[in-house]
Amino acid sequence: MQQENHEIDDRLFRNAMGSFSTGVTVITTKVTEEIYGMTANAFMSVSLNPKLVAISIGENAKMHQHIKVSKQFAINMLSTNQQNESKQFAGQIGAKSNITFASFKSLPILEDAIAVVTCELHSEYIVGDHTIFIGKVTGVKMNQGDPLLFSQGKYRELKELERE
Ligand code: FAD
Repeated sequence: MQQENHEIDDRLFRNAMGSFSTGVTVITTKVTEEIYGMTANAFMSVSLNPKLVAISIGENAKMHQHIKVSKQFAINMLSTNQQNESKQFAGQIGAKSNITFASFKSLPILEDAIAVVTCELHSEYIVGDHTIFIGKVTGVKMNQGDPLLFSQGKYRELKELERE
């Protein structure tokens, strides 16, 4: 028998969603010269013409308000060397440590990210307890490196499958 939505256990839902493996990004923005970052894996490319991307931010995250105010953000796609940055910007490391930001298209970015996309806020949609922010792409920057992955609650790295 199919379960009603409200009967589905939160843990079960989170575990199932965690089975969908992703890269890891840090969303950065700037409000009156103060820099903010937040780890996010709910990111996707949406449209090629015009170039649009989407991120989904929980209503309780401070970044939610920061983006509403700044109306711009950068998406920093992390490399395997940036596990600590992911933990830092997810609030899993404790005290705010000193992170050095570079600047690109007037936004703070993480210089070692394997790719960075800067955006102006295009539109936003409240969906349940999250808001989907659509960004109009203003800049793209790429570096060498392998992506940091997140799957089933753990950080992982790419492994190429052997050819048959
Ligand atoms: P805070 O809790 O204030 O900031 C987060 C952390 O970043 C704090 O430790 C803070 O000290 C640090 N920080 C902020 N700015 C700076 C700075 N300038 N210099 C140094 N440190 C700084 N949540 C979502 O809503 N959507 C997602 O897609 C999402 N994906 C996630 C994916 C992963 C792999 C993980 C681990 C978490 C994810 N989260 C996601 C949860 C989210 O990262 C946390 O809830 C986060 O703590 C919310 O941040 P905040 O905006 O409330 O700000």
